[in-house]
Amino acid sequence: MDVDVLQNASFLSRRDWRILHIPLPQLIICVTLLPAPGDPITGMGADVSKCSVDTLDNLHLNKGKVTMTTPRDSEFGVADWQRLLRSIGEDPERQGLTDTPNRVARAWAHWMRGYKQDPATILKTFADGGECYDELIVVRQIPVYSHCEHHLAPFFGHATVGYLPSGHIVGLSKLTRLVNCFAARLQVQERLTQQIAQSLLEHLQPKAVGVIIRCRHMCMESRGIAVVGEETVTSAMLGDLKTNAAQRAEFLALAE
Ligand SMILES: [Zn+2]
Repeated sequence: MDVDVLQNASFLSRRDWRILHIPLPQLIICVTLLPAPGDPITGMGADVSKCSVDTLDNLHLNKGKVTMTTPRDSEFGVADWQRLLRSIGEDPERQGLTDTPNRVARAWAHWMRGYKQDPATILKTFADGGECYDELIVVRQIPVYSHCEHHLAPFFGHATVGYLPSGHIVGLSKLTRLVNCFAARLQVQERLTQQIAQSLLEHLQPKAVGVIIRCRHMCMESRGIAVVGEETVTSAMLGDLKTNAAQRAEFLALAE
């Protein structure tokens, strides 16, 4: 991000921008006077007071220009996780919790890695002599680990993904990677199922696609109706599997 964009960054008011828009040596002094990581910033105007040091840590000096990383990478930092711990009545400084914010941040980066993955790249086709194969290809028991977007609670289980190729095939492991790509985001199981199926249809252009997902939802089991072990089953059938009863029956038999 260059200086012009920084001028419009949401956490800096125009008054604050003038504070930063000063000769480089003075700017370095300004940055070194920032409080220690984790401390809230005060006294720089209402907007910037909401901003943690973790965010300002992402200001960089690059060949005399002020740059910063995207807010998405830095908006929720250690200080925010500490505040969350305090909000539930915990002491983030007690032994056992001191490294929890860092640990949780790394865990969420892993759980949400799907936002940085591109289904088109995953489903790049290759010619390996299997293009003539024209029967169903089905992979069962693909692990699913996702988080519901309503409670940020995990849901997990297995997926069966199949397609009837039409000249394009992908490596079997790519179906697992495709499931991971969409599961590693905030989801509802219904949309997850459809996204996997639609993505296969779009990028492989097969004659048919079938996806079945079975998951347990922690938000249902730990609260609300609180029935442990209940399984939710969703399916998406596209192309021939939607219209051809015999083909659908074959897919369902293979998916069992
Ligand atoms: Zn939920």
